Amino acid sequence: MRRTVKIKLSPSNRNAIKRTASQFREACQYAVEAGWQDDGLKVCSRKKLHKMVYDDLRELTDLQANLVVRAISRAKEAIKGCVQKLKEGFKASKPHFDSDSVAHDQRTLSVSLKEERCSISTVDGRVQADFVLPENDKKYYQKYLDGSWNITQSTVEVHEYEEGEPIYLHLGLEKENEVEEKDDPTVMGVDLGINTLAVTSTGKFYKAGQLFEERKRFEEIRCKLQQKGTRSAHLTIKQMSGGENRFARDTLHQISKDLVRKAEECGIDVIVFEDLKYIRAKMPKEKGYHVWCFDKLYQFVKYKAEEKGIKVVQIDPKNTSRKCSRCGYVEKSNRRKAVFKCKECGYELHADFNASKNIGLKYLQTRQKSVSSSGQGQLALKSGTLKPSGEYIPR
Ligand SMILES: [Zn+2]
Repeated sequence: MRRTVKIKLSPSNRNAIKRTASQFREACQYAVEAGWQDDGLKVCSRKKLHKMVYDDLRELTDLQANLVVRAISRAKEAIKGCVQKLKEGFKASKPHFDSDSVAHDQRTLSVSLKEERCSISTVDGRVQADFVLPENDKKYYQKYLDGSWNITQSTVEVHEYEEGEPIYLHLGLEKENEVEEKDDPTVMGVDLGINTLAVTSTGKFYKAGQLFEERKRFEEIRCKLQQKGTRSAHLTIKQMSGGENRFARDTLHQISKDLVRKAEECGIDVIVFEDLKYIRAKMPKEKGYHVWCFDKLYQFVKYKAEEKGIKVVQIDPKNTSRKCSRCGYVEKSNRRKAVFKCKECGYELHADFNASKNIGLKYLQTRQKSVSSSGQGQLALKSGTLKPSGEYIPR
């Protein structure tokens, strides 16, 4: 299990942290400029990029060696991400860094969970910072600070678009606690889509509602602001991004909460999603935000479900939208926009609902092949369950 916990910091030297953040950002950008030529070379190897810029960056910045290494690593990841997009046939331009976020490892950031403080490597030496934990939310933090988690990579971020430019530690935590799967699990399939955000095999439809409309409005304003190009326009964009993000996150949190609660009520052991890397590959670039929402929803569901002992998995969604969930017949023309009608057996239902059943069934079928268990598991439906063999058991 992995978690990122956002903790407000009260550092002994704010200025040092801010200067480190801006030098780190510049270092990332410098490495990208070296590793990305518009019509040619794109360096995706950390070693190679390191050779090209490490000495320069030690010369040009006051960053400690480990931070320079982290900056190069971040630049490499950004280049690699864009190269991947290009390979998949999407447009991608040179990565641009504009956030004041610094990546740390155990050598540049030491954290004492017990004392609720940390020590951060900066351009002015080590800076001590106390955690500022909200009084009314102590319980939430306690479960992460009790020593049962291991600290992984973390970031220190300056939120310059928020009042008072607060500084946050995004603390990366990890612990071994994989949810064990039952021998004979009851699974629920979830289909993600642009019109209906999520549909479950138990027949619950979650509308995207304002989620995608708000985005359109925001894009228009951002476009106008970007044309202005001033610093204050830039800050407004950041501020809006923060607000928009919060709105999207809140909406997705609500949906994930309801989805997990319903799964608990139905006695679900495994929630099955489509693997987003397949969706990402199919979606045009302008739908990037939609994929972001899908990914967030998946993460929120995983987060909440695992705490209830429900496992969350992803599968390759191939054929799940064109296959009949009743007779198994596969044909593209089975599906007509929102309606699925089987050319073989005549079964008719909402196309996303059909897909959600197939996603759950596919997981059970793949599992049967790979796991040596006596149970075959069952798919939870609106009323009753379905065995992969086709046997229907009403509730
Ligand atoms: Zn059929």
